[in-house]
Amino acid sequence: MVCLNESEADRLAGHLNQSREKFDTTYLEKGSNGMMIMNQMPCHFLSDNKCTIYEYRFEGCREFPALHLPNFSRRLFTTFMHYDRCPIIFNVIEQLKQRIVIS
Ligand code: SF4
Repeated sequence: MVCLNESEADRLAGHLNQSREKFDTTYLEKGSNGMMIMNQMPCHFLSDNKCTIYEYRFEGCREFPALHLPNFSRRLFTTFMHYDRCPIIFNVIEQLKQRIVIS
């Protein structure tokens, strides 16, 4: 799930030279928690494994996979969901597995 806020949507809509109404209709929907989310996975802006709006990507994209943020254990499930496609997550999990001592 790719979340964004109002200012990020405004900024990207401006970059794409679209009205917010057109941008929202084309790319967004409301998530179950009321947050704005991209209405397509993979994201509309992913092409050839690259972000086509890199300078305008959202905070969540900039911080992904957020291994540096507090409360990692609360995001463990969603982190594992990307294990097979995100090299950073794969490498971190594999290193954690090597550090686990089973007695
Ligand atoms: S980094 Fe770019 S392509 Fe990836 S989810 Fe974010 S906006 Fe979409």
